[in-house]
Amino acid sequence: MNLNAPPASASAGPNAAVERHLLDTVATDPAAASPAEIMHAVAQVAREHLSRRWVATDRADRAARARRVYYLSMEFLIGRTLSNALAAVGLTGEMAAAAKAHANTLEDLTATEADAALGNGGLGRLAACFLDSMATVELPSYGYGIRYEFGMFKQSIVGGRQVEHPDPWLEDGTPWEFPRTGVSYPVRFGGWVEPGAHGSSGSIWRHAGEVNAKAYDMVIPGHGTPRVSTLRLWKAAAPSQIDLHAFNTGDYARAAEFKNQYENISWVLYPNDSTPAGRELRLRQEYFFTSASIQDILARHLAEHGRLTNLAEKVAIHLNDTHPAIGVAELMRLLVDEHAFGWAGAWALTQKVFSYTNHTLMPEALETWPVSLMQHVLPRHLEIIFRINSEFLAAAAKLRPGDNEFMRSLSLIEERGERRVRMAHLSIVGSHKVNGVSALHSELLVQTIFANFAALWPERFTNMTNGVTPRRWLAQANTGLASLIDSTIGDGWRLHLDQLIGLREHAANADFRNAFLAVKQANKLRLAEHIRAHTGVPVDATSLFDVQVKRIHEYKRQLLNVLQVVARYQAMLADPDADWVPRTVIFAGKAASSYVSAKAVIQLIHDVGTVINTDARLRGRLKLVFVPNYGVSVAEVIMPGADLSEQISTAGTEASGTGNMKLALNGALTIGTDDGANVEIRQQVGDDNIFIFGLSTAQVAAQRAAGYQPLRIYEENPRLKAVLDAIAGGRFSEDEPGRYRALVDSLLWGGDHYMLLADFDSYVAAQSRVDALYRDPQAWARKAIANVAGMGFFSSDRTIREYARDVWGLAAKA
Ligand SMILES: *Cc1c(COP(=O)(O)O)cnc(C)c1O
Repeated sequence: MNLNAPPASASAGPNAAVERHLLDTVATDPAAASPAEIMHAVAQVAREHLSRRWVATDRADRAARARRVYYLSMEFLIGRTLSNALAAVGLTGEMAAAAKAHANTLEDLTATEADAALGNGGLGRLAACFLDSMATVELPSYGYGIRYEFGMFKQSIVGGRQVEHPDPWLEDGTPWEFPRTGVSYPVRFGGWVEPGAHGSSGSIWRHAGEVNAKAYDMVIPGHGTPRVSTLRLWKAAAPSQIDLHAFNTGDYARAAEFKNQYENISWVLYPNDSTPAGRELRLRQEYFFTSASIQDILARHLAEHGRLTNLAEKVAIHLNDTHPAIGVAELMRLLVDEHAFGWAGAWALTQKVFSYTNHTLMPEALETWPVSLMQHVLPRHLEIIFRINSEFLAAAAKLRPGDNEFMRSLSLIEERGERRVRMAHLSIVGSHKVNGVSALHSELLVQTIFANFAALWPERFTNMTNGVTPRRWLAQANTGLASLIDSTIGDGWRLHLDQLIGLREHAANADFRNAFLAVKQANKLRLAEHIRAHTGVPVDATSLFDVQVKRIHEYKRQLLNVLQVVARYQAMLADPDADWVPRTVIFAGKAASSYVSAKAVIQLIHDVGTVINTDARLRGRLKLVFVPNYGVSVAEVIMPGADLSEQISTAGTEASGTGNMKLALNGALTIGTDDGANVEIRQQVGDDNIFIFGLSTAQVAAQRAAGYQPLRIYEENPRLKAVLDAIAGGRFSEDEPGRYRALVDSLLWGGDHYMLLADFDSYVAAQSRVDALYRDPQAWARKAIANVAGMGFFSSDRTIREYARDVWGLAAKA
């Protein structure tokens, strides 16, 4: 059949299609449908188009026996789908008309969709941007992950404290998934290993338990192309014989317990960010989705090619961080134990198939698993890892005979203390390419934590600077700026973000600058309304909107920002009649449930905000707010309304950042350290259009080596001392004066690991330069426009084209 023909309903007009779905799919009276019901019907119209595109893409790729990339990621932070899907299939205008026919706007409808929050933060959002770009640049591609029943927790604030609520995003059903009832694989755990047939490399794994992985697909539309990509998510289901047996004996409670024991694998996302979870269920999750994905990949390959010897010619598997690293051992197991490969042949294929992205330099964030736990959960995989390790170390020893420190640093097994498997080392040894996510991060990888691997294999290490999709983060989130850009340089930037450079010359045009400022003002009004509705605090939309939105983490230094706000507050009280630039400081972000100091920072923001926001002496010229429940949809409201983007991590700690890119793309100026992708943003927009402050990575290292003394900085800096004394002394927590003593002590006496005090003065000075510029709106607009114009490099399309060419061996659409 002709898959390019539109679905039958399309010819009868858009509203007719919506009405038909209200009646036939949602089963409601079209005349009395709620916004949520209309949303579902509109989604069904888009779904009809997407399912055809999926079938056509799959048919084409099978016919071509295409080489494909498989992107394995524990997290995909997708957000809402409707607006993006409508834009991709070209139905935005028609569906807006259909919404209007039902006395709604498209925004009313899209607001009823739950976010798919299957991720924590940057890593998961990167995976979502990559899917969008893989489809758009027409790569034959699949994302693979877990269909968590509960995504990232929802955050509310009670008495200034974070409260976590479950996120049952599938509760009302989602129109976007396609259950693939025929696609299911067994995933096994536990038991023991017996030797295989004499003369073979294989073993027999006598497993103790088994769970089924069932496939649910989400179609990822490409933009400017009918091609799509697939996100295949696995749900855990107890094998049916287990259910049956307990039911037959009449023990229903035990049957349910059994079922839960298996199905809990895909129940909930671990809400940790930048710290490994370390629990057995997490290891089971990692193996569960990795095993199912690799079995699926091999099944597809066998269906198309009938043999596995050419696997590396057709399959590229990418590891998004080490969470799927067990896949290296799993592919070896499948080839050797189940497909009769010899060890050497299997290993050669495995190394060609895998590639790995590292996301962090911080040693405490690198994933390791106790050998004893792995022995218990995955005994055969542990055996395989030991063999990989001994062959690898034997080869490395030839290079530096007798150098035990060299060998210890390379080993897949950490031998000090409890023996542990180092998942990053397994990923490096099992891959042909390893990359960092910004130029600085990739450089530091080969200079620090992976230096000895880089000495062995310099050609294996490379850089792929992150990016963001311009479709969601500009076209969809900021329709005002998108139309202004369209009418100035045309609409080609959606697919070729480099074209934004054409805006540079318009910065000199006063009419353009005023139009740009008017768009920003409208976005700030919308953000101000969101703030009022969700915090109760009224804010002045003509004030400078100073935004720090990201996960709450010590290395990201939200606390440094609070110190700066308190310093400003004290300075304003000391000189209330000075000509202060009005500012609204806006925070948002979630703290991991067990992260005590991150939660203390959230409470401090609220406590300081309560004092500042009600101090009449300030005459409204300083406000401090915390927007609850940061996630993709909240980000889509905040980013377009930001004037200033806070990217203030300690130099050398933020691998890349992508929030920095989204904010600059929406016309915010960055105040930041020379860290992660800030370095490249600075190069792209120019030194004059960004506020860089603080120690460099090299200076951080030098200060640490020389013996960093935070107490001394405190004693020598009266402004900083006044800030810390006020916080520690209970000025903002009069109901409990000692509430922040420990937080302040961690800076003064606990070593101030992230060196807030060292950067404080330089940060405050940079903030003064920000104020000075904001006094001159035209000068500010010139620089903000230069930021938008310079963001072409940070499209995830560019990133994905680089991966396709240099890592995956795939041809992307130009
Ligand atoms: C972009 C994004 C992030 C990453 O932000 P960083 O500032 O790079 O840490 C996290 N969460 C959400 C919802 C995002 O959209």
